[in-house]
Amino acid sequence: ENSPSADSKPRILLMGLRRSGKSSIQKVVFHKMSPNETLFLESTNKIYKDDISGSSFVNFHIWDFPGQVDFFDPTFDYEMIFRGTGALIFVIDAQDDYVEALGRLHLTVSRAFRVNPEINFEVFIHKVDGLSDDHKIETQRDIHQRANDDLADASLEKLHLSFYLTSIYDHSIFEAFSKVVQKLIPQLPTLENLLNIFISCIFVNIFKIYIATDSSPVDMQSYELCCDMIDVVIDVSCIYGLKDDSNSNAYDKESLAIIKLNNTTVLYLKEVTKFLALVCILREESFERKGLIDYNFHCFRKAIHEVFEVSSSTQRTGAAVHSS
Ligand code: GDP
Repeated sequence: ENSPSADSKPRILLMGLRRSGKSSIQKVVFHKMSPNETLFLESTNKIYKDDISGSSFVNFHIWDFPGQVDFFDPTFDYEMIFRGTGALIFVIDAQDDYVEALGRLHLTVSRAFRVNPEINFEVFIHKVDGLSDDHKIETQRDIHQRANDDLADASLEKLHLSFYLTSIYDHSIFEAFSKVVQKLIPQLPTLENLLNIFISCIFVNIFKIYIATDSSPVDMQSYELCCDMIDVVIDVSCIYGLKDDSNSNAYDKESLAIIKLNNTTVLYLKEVTKFLALVCILREESFERKGLIDYNFHCFRKAIHEVFEVSSSTQRTGAAVHSS
């Protein structure tokens, strides 16, 4: 675990009290479980390591801790764990009394910050599907206030917490995860520039976590459409596309899908790398210039392969430079 190559991969830790929803988040986002099935999940009672090769450039682990991690247990080497962590996600159940959770949050982030101040601290205010809109905002405000008051009391003003309202019953969990992952990708500005050659598009991995978008803000509706497009392509090819030999893949170089919508736009999905796809929402008239789109796509794909080949070879040799 503490070899240099393992350290160069951003690791994401998922923590929180028992029953806060950690296993459900992990199953829904990375294992395509439907939200209703999570009702029957066994509660987590050990440190769980999930190796997810989300793409060639974000390899991350999710460590699902039991709620009651004992920092004073000498067999639990939290220093080693925090040292190799890129982001720590703390899940708080918003449908429950969150006083105890706030105490654990404070204890956890202050410990982690002392070991590694570079960690991104992300708080998921979770299960908000059960809350009215007013209640959501009030809960977020209250949790934000209390958590930051605790930090100020401990003179830890430098420790920054980011907050997200999440639920596994809609796309908010994918959107929050996307933002967490994006902060860990040094090539992000390059990606955004590359995407600006398209009109409106989203660069996603097959777990529906979007890695980058063009510089116009993403609206939830477009994002949901793009997610649905990925589901359609992967589900249909899993069910009807796979041949019996174990070598075939549901998602490969040939993967491509076009759906014309009734509002004069076109959804366009195309494979970029083994785990990444470009999903664009194009105006119908731009889609008529198919040659231009193909040409732009070809440039984009080539650039992505260059950007990530460079960065993975610098990672292998341990050099700290990144292409920009
Ligand atoms: P863990 O102990 O932190 O791993 O928690 P689990 O993943 O086992 O979740 C505990 C319960 O919370 C399960 O019954 C889930 O179905 C439920 N749950 C998880 N996420 C959500 C959510 O976003 N909304 C709602 N309403 N329930 C959720």
